[in-house]
Amino acid sequence: MQLDNLYQEVILDHYKHPENKGLAASYDAQVHHINPSCGDEITLNLTLQGDKVSAISWDGVGCSISQASVSIMSSLMLNKNLEQAQIILDDFMLLMQSKGIGAPDEAILEDAVAFAGVSQYPARIKCALLGWMAFKDASVQAQKKN
Ligand code: ZN
Repeated sequence: MQLDNLYQEVILDHYKHPENKGLAASYDAQVHHINPSCGDEITLNLTLQGDKVSAISWDGVGCSISQASVSIMSSLMLNKNLEQAQIILDDFMLLMQSKGIGAPDEAILEDAVAFAGVSQYPARIKCALLGWMAFKDASVQAQKKN
């Protein structure tokens, strides 16, 4: 798999120095998502304050793409309200469906633009999406609870 070098660096940096990793003891929703085709697993804890993501933490094992993606997602979503989070999520989904020709909006996706090249590799898209699907699931559950 050939990714742009700069993007590869961003991904490896998050893989080696993940953000928000280590599960918080209290949360509104906890979800566990797996990607059997690659062996990636993550557990995500989410807390909402009103409609704002006030805490997000996770733990996981798996390939660099899956783990870096959940790290980047967690730092992007923290302190966003659910409406903003949905815009970011939708944008990332579109990027993953772009088959390598998407022009990601860095103002919205920030470091997550690093996964643009992954959209050329169908087998790896599930790796990149794992944490984002977990967030979506957790945010629905947390809203039901609140
Ligand atoms: Zn993977």
